[in-house]
Amino acid sequence: MWTDPRDEKIRQLESELWSARHTILHLLPEPILVQADTYYSLKTREEARKWEEALAGSVIELAWPLAVETHYSGPRVNCPLCKRSTSGPYAEGFKLPDGLRRHLLGEGNAHQCDVLNAVFELAKGSWLPFARKAETEYQAEQGAIKAARRERETLYRLGPRSEAELLDDKLWWGNAPRTEESLAWAIARLRNLGFAETQNGNVKEFTKAFDLVVMYADPRETGRITFHVFRKEQVDRPQSRKRWVPDHHTFYFLDTWKNDLKGKLHERVMQSLQTLASTKHR
Ligand SMILES: [Zn+2]
Repeated sequence: MWTDPRDEKIRQLESELWSARHTILHLLPEPILVQADTYYSLKTREEARKWEEALAGSVIELAWPLAVETHYSGPRVNCPLCKRSTSGPYAEGFKLPDGLRRHLLGEGNAHQCDVLNAVFELAKGSWLPFARKAETEYQAEQGAIKAARRERETLYRLGPRSEAELLDDKLWWGNAPRTEESLAWAIARLRNLGFAETQNGNVKEFTKAFDLVVMYADPRETGRITFHVFRKEQVDRPQSRKRWVPDHHTFYFLDTWKNDLKGKLHERVMQSLQTLASTKHR
């Protein structure tokens, strides 16, 4: 089998980089080294983040006795690991504790400490494969759970071309799906507004045609019903490859609205018609 000589070169460089980082780790002052050298036990991003922060905390502890107080600024110190100071006009060192912490962790727009960066990267080479594997497994698990739910739960189609959604799929950020009782209430509200409910297998849709458009209602979300308005042609010919811009127009009704809902619906649809008619397909 032919192998790219560059692969061998990359492996060699990776190995050398690992050695260099490992050497840097072992040049750390004793108490920091002992703490840092536990990196191989890290398995998740969360553990790694805590380990990084704890390490920065210990370096800050180490720096306090070396700090110098100036008359116009609080205690300042050069980084005890890389010996650097700030790049600002008053190069008396990093302000303790937050300035030094930002340097050590590379937070904000601070350039990260080269020493700690090398140590973090060494650790990352160890924990990242574990974290990635766990994340992949978690995603596969979630995918399987979702697939099973899609088999047995009611799905809601929200547009002529879109895939039907579970009750709690892709809701507005942070919003909760309705309870069974609340959902029944929302569906009754849609019926009063003249929406038809159709069911195909376990897929439901709530639609209402109006002039040149068709509205798809989404009753799933607590507190509001969302309406997606499509051109009639999009609904009649869902397989068509014509791209419309914008694809559709969206508005919503809050559950708390009580007066003249039919009038409001008419008004919103007229707005949708204007939006959709003013644009073209390509
Ligand atoms: Zn440093």
